[in-house]
Amino acid sequence: MVTTTTTSSSATGSRSESESEFRPTGPGRKERVSPLLDTRGRALRDIRFSVTDRCNFRCVYCMPKEIFGRDYAFMPREELLSFEEITRLARISVANGVEKLRLTGGEPLLRKGLPELVSMLSELRTPDGREVDIAVTTNGSALGHLAADLKQAGLKRVTVSLDSLNDEVFQSMNDVRFPVSKVLSAIDVAQEVGLGPIKINMVVKRGLNDNDIVAMAEHFRGTGHILRFIEFMDVGSTNGWELRQVVSSAEVLARINEVFPIEPLEENYSGETSRRWKYKDGAGEIGVISSVTQSFCHSCTRARISVDGKLYTCLFATGGHDLREMMRGGCSDEELEAKLAWIWNSRTDRYSELRMANTPRQTGKRIEMSYIGG
Ligand code: SF4
Repeated sequence: MVTTTTTSSSATGSRSESESEFRPTGPGRKERVSPLLDTRGRALRDIRFSVTDRCNFRCVYCMPKEIFGRDYAFMPREELLSFEEITRLARISVANGVEKLRLTGGEPLLRKGLPELVSMLSELRTPDGREVDIAVTTNGSALGHLAADLKQAGLKRVTVSLDSLNDEVFQSMNDVRFPVSKVLSAIDVAQEVGLGPIKINMVVKRGLNDNDIVAMAEHFRGTGHILRFIEFMDVGSTNGWELRQVVSSAEVLARINEVFPIEPLEENYSGETSRRWKYKDGAGEIGVISSVTQSFCHSCTRARISVDGKLYTCLFATGGHDLREMMRGGCSDEELEAKLAWIWNSRTDRYSELRMANTPRQTGKRIEMSYIGG
């Protein structure tokens, strides 16, 4: 939504003057465009689109086989947002301050024609004419085949999930006997086509793969890739999460520091989920994502749109806002924009802060990560 040159917070939702951008509206004319702010002053900067609820893995902390078995009813194709609908929502979000778009799932590379969607999104520009940062989070299983097409289409970055180098452990975690070697070679292909440095996400679960922390660090040291250790989270309602299964980031860093001395790095930007560390000997960077022990709700700038077009303002949400119905009901862009502004302006989410303070959190069934994307 736009405000004319000099206004402060207009009737169209609360915005921050300081973060305003300007977009040209004609010779010598420009309009101020400011990001949307929630009730805690957090700007909406990132949208994660889940483009499929399907996955070819059954990671025990995300899509346990017992729940997502052979008879699990995944969403029929006509229920999924089309590429045009995703691009429309992205266009309106980018016009309102969003700078990063991440495609997730399930496994996003299973969505047929994904490079075409990337190409449509890469046409978008921020109000001041900059390219939008488009990224994908994948399990790597199809990355080797699609990396070149995705890069060609305009993909900027890729994050690959890899929870262990030990085949037995990795296959017990993905629960479909998918080998480590195939993920590693896909990472090499992605690097070769220019999608590097690659971010590697390792979800650490005590008693399952925590013995592999140092081995993973050793493997990716000196490669230029950025290995991030993610604390096991109580996402959704099916992964049987218990606090005793969490290996805190502090413990992860201590284990690594014993073998490979590390020191902290500045954040790249406000709202970055990963806390950055570097090896003292110059062998590169690692990160920790500590939703359980060091919540980052205070600077959370992310919204998520599910595969069927519901907008969620928190990974641990129990309910969302149906934008698909509005679009298929023939609403205008202005109506969608007003809805987006209203949703974000009334956002109060801080689930991880509450969990950390062990205070009562919202009741109700949390949405599955495979449905709204991580
Ligand atoms: S718990 Fe919710 S509000 Fe907090 S950082 Fe995660 S997504 Fe953001």
